Amino acid sequence: QLLQRILQLQGNIQVCARIRPMSDEESQRGFHEVAQSLGETEVGCFDERTQQWKSYAFDKVWGPETSNRDVFQDVEPLALSVIEGYNACIFAYGQTGSGKTFTMEGDEVQQGISQRTIKKIFTLLEEKSIRHLSQQHPDRFEYIVKIGMLEIYNDEVYDLLDPSFVAASSGSPRKKPLDVRQSADNTVEVPGLRQEHVCSVDEVLKALDRGNANRATASTNLNEHSSRSHMILHVDITSGVGETKCRGSLYLIDLAGSERVRKSEVEGQALKEAQHINKSLSALGNVMEALDRKASHVPYRDSKLTHLLTNSLGGNSRTMMIMTACPHNESYDETTFALKFATRVR
Ligand code: ADP
Ligand code: MG
Repeated sequence: QLLQRILQLQGNIQVCARIRPMSDEESQRGFHEVAQSLGETEVGCFDERTQQWKSYAFDKVWGPETSNRDVFQDVEPLALSVIEGYNACIFAYGQTGSGKTFTMEGDEVQQGISQRTIKKIFTLLEEKSIRHLSQQHPDRFEYIVKIGMLEIYNDEVYDLLDPSFVAASSGSPRKKPLDVRQSADNTVEVPGLRQEHVCSVDEVLKALDRGNANRATASTNLNEHSSRSHMILHVDITSGVGETKCRGSLYLIDLAGSERVRKSEVEGQALKEAQHINKSLSALGNVMEALDRKASHVPYRDSKLTHLLTNSLGGNSRTMMIMTACPHNESYDETTFALKFATRVR
């Protein structure tokens, strides 16, 4: 049943949009809503200067009333295709404060895509294993789940599960970044990256906490730091009976904030960060666009982010970009910029 839903996934690249609700503070400050979902597949954005609506088409649009549970229902077939041996990437793209982390990791009340995916993966694998036992097959159904957690900051890759991860950002020293390398068979790897074998949801959640704690100690202000770096959760699954095993790889990515920083406004470290973010997000856009029009050359190597994901972007892999947006007028320009970016790759 799930496999059928996976196979029905249209195309290899899906682009979705999620518009978060207004916060109380935004309402109190007199901001008003200018971005709305128009039905299931369109975002409308009202330009107050020209008094005109512009609309943008997506594969799926989630409005402010949509819960993380609802979002997961739509994301599930793609996220779980990893069990059937597919590679997939799910990105959250949008300006800081638009809901990327809420969508991917959730909050105290609503779990995000990552936790829901991990939970479902273990449930399904355990079910498969039990069903298989009852068939009295001579070989057992076996599975290995591994996770990795990394961060890309200033176009350098850092291992968040490395116990010797050294706290630092904004100029102070950090643990040595990892290399991204292309091996002889054209697969891209990150030598030395920890891939932890995990046996339960609990173990995964503990590892995630550890990674997040490393990330937090790496900065005086986690929110600020997390908006300046990409966070990547990698789930690698090998499963099957006897010799007939399949392997799938899922990347869940909370991208750095898409807001554009003006050169006149920042300098030094902040400017460097902004330039790296700019460069890697446009590299991602270019790769997705090249894949979408089946270009002969896909510029994976233009950033560490796309280079690292070479094996999971394109080919038989599936990609979902979730663009998150603020609903209010104060963010109109950033929202329009992000809407254009997201719909360009569709
Ligand atoms: P980002 O990671 O893009 O910077 P966050 O996920 O941290 O943004 O969201 C900013 C704030 O808005 C948080 O307080 C978060 O709980 C809230 N928020 C974001 N999306 C939603 C949503 N869909 N529903 C309710 N609250 C949301
Ligand atoms: Mg965030």
